[in-house]
Amino acid sequence: MELLRSETYEARSLPPGSSEPAPAVLEIRWDPLTGHTTRLVGSGGALMPASELDLRAVADQTATTCPFCGDRLEARTPRLLPEISQRGRIRRGEAVLFPNLLAYAKHAAVSVYSPGRHYLPLGDMTPELVADNLATQVAFVEAVQRHDGESRWASINANHMLPSGSSLFHPHMQGAVDPTPTTMQRLLADTPAQRFVDYLEAERREGRRYLGTTGSVEWLASFAPIAPAELRAFLPGRASPAELSPPLVQELAWGIATALGLYAEMGHESFNMAIYGAPPATAGYPLNLRIGLRSNLKALYRSDSTYFERLHWEGAIDISPEELAELAGGRFGA
Ligand SMILES: [Zn+2]
Repeated sequence: MELLRSETYEARSLPPGSSEPAPAVLEIRWDPLTGHTTRLVGSGGALMPASELDLRAVADQTATTCPFCGDRLEARTPRLLPEISQRGRIRRGEAVLFPNLLAYAKHAAVSVYSPGRHYLPLGDMTPELVADNLATQVAFVEAVQRHDGESRWASINANHMLPSGSSLFHPHMQGAVDPTPTTMQRLLADTPAQRFVDYLEAERREGRRYLGTTGSVEWLASFAPIAPAELRAFLPGRASPAELSPPLVQELAWGIATALGLYAEMGHESFNMAIYGAPPATAGYPLNLRIGLRSNLKALYRSDSTYFERLHWEGAIDISPEELAELAGGRFGA
């Protein structure tokens, strides 16, 4: 498989009131790791309008009944079994982790950035808030895997704000630890180790989507995004979130907070993230993540998840990866 494969097609039609064919360019790209295809359509970001929402007003409206706010969290969220945590919940800084009420995984966790931060726009997300939240999830994976050696597949994820799939407004992350991988974890783990090396090397050489390294973490604008404005990060030498040392958690969190700052500048408030773990010590597998935008909350506006994404497993994206990398500029170190 060619590493950075793309094909361009010209679509032609007669515009209303004209007999002159109008060409439009469509580009298909193949993901260098899994081979998933993406279609880049040329509407220049028009499919993802910036937020016009009064986020503060929605926060005020939802805070009065929120189970993650303040003292309500203690009373209304489940506790971890003593073999996972003696104290029932895992805390770092302001962040608190507890089991998900809905068993999305054999071991499913929710972690709020802070019970005191129901209103947390992306522009206010700091490296410290992300690091503390990420640290609770890493501690959860470690504790689960110490107790349940069969649950080797861990991921740390985010549905951020209602359009992303989150049922609660209060900002949080989610963790899943299972004996079996998700489809994407399986596809990534089946990718030959050399393919990851070659992909990073090709992007470094080509330069237009390579965003930089923070030391141990390399950042890219995705060549073939499944989500709008998708960024990817790779941590060679670590396979599972359980293997992240506290300095690595801080370094990764700095990059995530930087990505969220970029999204805020682009006028967005909703995103999905997945950190795809393989079993600890999987040789050659680099722990890696995807993070991408979701539509802003807007009455009578489309979801960004269409038949392409849901049923064809293919992104239909109108934010160019190269323009995204230009917007990111030097903020990731390149
Ligand atoms: Zn809340």
